Amino acid sequence: MATTRVDWADVTENWCSGCSGPTGIPAAPNPCPYCFARRMAARLRGMPKGAVKYRNGFQPTFHPDEIEKFRKKASRWRKRRRVFVNSMSDINDPVFTDDQIQQQIQVATDHPQHTFMFLSKRPERYARFEWPHNAWLGATACDSETMARASHLDAAPAAVRFLSCEPLLEEVTIWPNARLSWIIIGAQTGPGAKPPRRSWVESLAAQADAIGVAVFFKDNLRKHFGDAFVRQEFPGG
Ligand code: SF4
Repeated sequence: MATTRVDWADVTENWCSGCSGPTGIPAAPNPCPYCFARRMAARLRGMPKGAVKYRNGFQPTFHPDEIEKFRKKASRWRKRRRVFVNSMSDINDPVFTDDQIQQQIQVATDHPQHTFMFLSKRPERYARFEWPHNAWLGATACDSETMARASHLDAAPAAVRFLSCEPLLEEVTIWPNARLSWIIIGAQTGPGAKPPRRSWVESLAAQADAIGVAVFFKDNLRKHFGDAFVRQEFPGG
């Protein structure tokens, strides 16, 4: 779920930081060598503005003080905003308690005028909670293995369920009868990044079109395939 510039949201909030990796075992070998958030956490830890928040490095850490800051900030917003929550973490990481997740859901409930987008590699945990209509729930699906796990998204009680296929690492197939509204597709970034094959992107977009799902190509695909290739749709038109 780690992204670079988030071109599909207006604001990024991090009420959690860090991640145990998709295995949930912090000491396990890193299965996500492309993880942008891990690199960013290390960088922020060495900077004055991130020294406290990232004092635990990439260990999963809940930040209730950031929620309070958000509530003050959002009280001054006049326009609807799309808020991507936890670009530097995974709300469903096993380290986070149900109560900590519930506190984040409550923020979305208290701000029905804004949209809150959550993204996880562990979408099976979403179904344990009640989510307000303005919470969009996503799953990361970079390859066939994570796509299979993403199918748990179908059970998530959300108005919008979405896939983030970033970085797209191979050709993937969406599971049958998927209950999706949106698919985001992007490229690997950072040192040694390899672009996805054009055919992988085209195949995924064609599958989305066949089931009537909006498609958002991240800006990082422009440099590989050109501006004319890129389409940026949102659920609901
Ligand atoms: S699951 Fe996401 S945030 Fe966690 S290590 Fe992998 S890419 Fe990074």
